[in-house]
Amino acid sequence: MPSSAPPDTTPAAAPSVEDLFRELEASVRKFRPNEDLTPLEKAYRFAAARHEGQKRASGEPYMIHPLLVTRQLADMHMDMTCLETGLLHDVVEDTTATIEEIRKNFGEDVAHCVGGVTKLSKLDLASREERQAESVRKMLLAMVTDIRVIIVKMADRLHNLRTLGSLPREKQERIAQETIEIYAPIAHRLGMGKVRGELEDLSFQYLEPEASRELLKEFEAQHQTNEALLKEIKHTVEVHLAREGIPARVETRVKRAYSVYQKLKRQKITLDQVYDLLAVRIITDSVKNCYAALGVIHNEWHPIPGRIKDFIAIPRPNLYQSLHTSVMGPGGRHFEVQIRTEEMHRIAEEGIAAHWKYKEGRKGPAVDDQRIAWLRQLVEWQRDMRDPGEFMSTLKVDLYPEEVYAFTPMGKVIVLPRDATPIDFAYAIHSDVGTHCTGAKVNGRIVPLKSTLRNGDVVEILTQAGHLPSKDWLAVVKTSKARNKIKHVINTTERAKAIEIGQKYLQVEARRLGVRLSEITKAQLESVASEYGYGKMEDLHAALGYGKFSPRQILQKLAPDQVLPPEPAAPETAAPTQPVVPADKQDLVIKVKGIDDLLVYRAKCCNPIKGEPIVGYVTRGKGVAVHSLSCNNVQNLMYEAERKIDVEWARSSAGAFPVKLMIHTEDKPGMLNQLTTALVNEQTNIRSLEARTDGAPDAAVIDMTLEVRDKKQLERVVSAIRRISGVRDIERVNQ
Ligand code: MN
Repeated sequence: MPSSAPPDTTPAAAPSVEDLFRELEASVRKFRPNEDLTPLEKAYRFAAARHEGQKRASGEPYMIHPLLVTRQLADMHMDMTCLETGLLHDVVEDTTATIEEIRKNFGEDVAHCVGGVTKLSKLDLASREERQAESVRKMLLAMVTDIRVIIVKMADRLHNLRTLGSLPREKQERIAQETIEIYAPIAHRLGMGKVRGELEDLSFQYLEPEASRELLKEFEAQHQTNEALLKEIKHTVEVHLAREGIPARVETRVKRAYSVYQKLKRQKITLDQVYDLLAVRIITDSVKNCYAALGVIHNEWHPIPGRIKDFIAIPRPNLYQSLHTSVMGPGGRHFEVQIRTEEMHRIAEEGIAAHWKYKEGRKGPAVDDQRIAWLRQLVEWQRDMRDPGEFMSTLKVDLYPEEVYAFTPMGKVIVLPRDATPIDFAYAIHSDVGTHCTGAKVNGRIVPLKSTLRNGDVVEILTQAGHLPSKDWLAVVKTSKARNKIKHVINTTERAKAIEIGQKYLQVEARRLGVRLSEITKAQLESVASEYGYGKMEDLHAALGYGKFSPRQILQKLAPDQVLPPEPAAPETAAPTQPVVPADKQDLVIKVKGIDDLLVYRAKCCNPIKGEPIVGYVTRGKGVAVHSLSCNNVQNLMYEAERKIDVEWARSSAGAFPVKLMIHTEDKPGMLNQLTTALVNEQTNIRSLEARTDGAPDAAVIDMTLEVRDKKQLERVVSAIRRISGVRDIERVNQ
């Protein structure tokens, strides 16, 4: 906390706004003695004039807030654009100033940054959730072009949290929650370790006041023991490193309250079971000495297996590098050791903000910075998401800090969130790999696609051209990239299907009811579409195809004198076993062209084959399901009469229908031979065949999948099999 923050003593002792600006100026002057600070003063004067008369919740002049935000930025040694933005960050949101004014007075960069940190006006969107989602989205977009937006936003958030005390309880909670869910993880992903730590610890006090008080009390009780132990450890480390000639700075600390709390909660342990409550940090001069120091530590104390992590060889996605180990310390107390170079230390503390540190002639981060790449991807994946709730929840998934490191067969590291699946892995490699993924090998063995990956897994994705993702994947994937891509593919194919179904459905019903669609103008059609809230005919067709309403409803609007309003659905008791296709309507039905037709599919429950009486049912989003008329499900489905559609086998439909048979036989030699001979005689292909013994001593079961052209062929095959001696029973199996 900057030393100039208003002390919480009497108001008279608080420095004036003008004093605070002088202090800010002095602190900037310290690290850039030669720079012209006119722009800083200009921004200050502009902001002070606009905020004139405004007060914070605490009763202080509002201008104190932007000044202390900027002071934080100055303490982080940020560049002039950042500092000007800090002073001006609230003028557009809270005063009459406009972005155009900022641009005219302070230039393009400052205007862009101020625009990025400005929340959306309360008038723009209905709900607070929508506003929050849109504000975050807007900030992310602005961040991609200028990362200074987020650096200023972080400083703003820090000061707001430090002064949260004067706000009502409900508001405190909301701000703390948003910080934990969005700002702290973003700080983490951008490598701003120090800011993240402070954001989390401050929010923790407001989110879990009791747990936080409890924990601090425990910390307090242990304080003397811990400090004594850390002092002893520090001394030992320094002595041993010096003996080995390793130059090093040694720091000790007690782990931060919030991260301890998370550990306690997640692992259901008590404070004395936290391995890394006490931590030692060794900062040395070279990578070589990092490993040398690790050796020294392991020589002195026994390492705890599985706790050694080499983030130097494999940096975290936020570019964090260090060696970590936990060892058994004096008196059996565990402690953690982090070993890193000065450069690694700087990156761990400041992250991306290090790029914007004031330095002559230095520009912003390299465009290929991994952390920027992560941001760009994040923004790209979330760009098309319209639903604010969905946007926020997938954003949170991406910000989730736990990671799994898996490898491609070529050794490339793929970083995924915890519990990620091979499907996530496939999408992380490339969208096409994900879309065409049919299976996966982990460490050389085939695994289910829904299995979870672990650190160090080598994953090989099996693909097949033309393969499409399954809806079930949505339930198992952990990354929003995978989720969005899968949804996109499914929605696109389903919508295309629905449009086609809807179109035909309308034509068929029009013919049946004697409405001539050709005589209806485009304008008429479009006006009916818009009556239903659709801008385009295509959307209306899709809605029909999804079964949202019946074509009869539409036709009634188009030709009210020809079409009577839809009758109420027939009650369930209305003898559904009767044939549904009256003879006089049979020429009006949709033809089933074959199993490859996108429009229709044969229902799995009854798997009808050509020649059997069938009926169609418009499903929600999957096309027309064609059931056998004798299927049990039909009776359950058809009480929604509006969605029934007449179908028939097209005369030309040639093709092979797979049919599964289960044949119960005596268990005797030659059975299979006789069976296959019978099938060859009937010119029937066998797709698969598997014999097994049944429970009874002399019984066998043969599972077979055949390909038949139609019902007649199936009947012939079945009677041929029945004639074989030793065959006891034949069942047709569906699914
Ligand atoms: Mn602010």
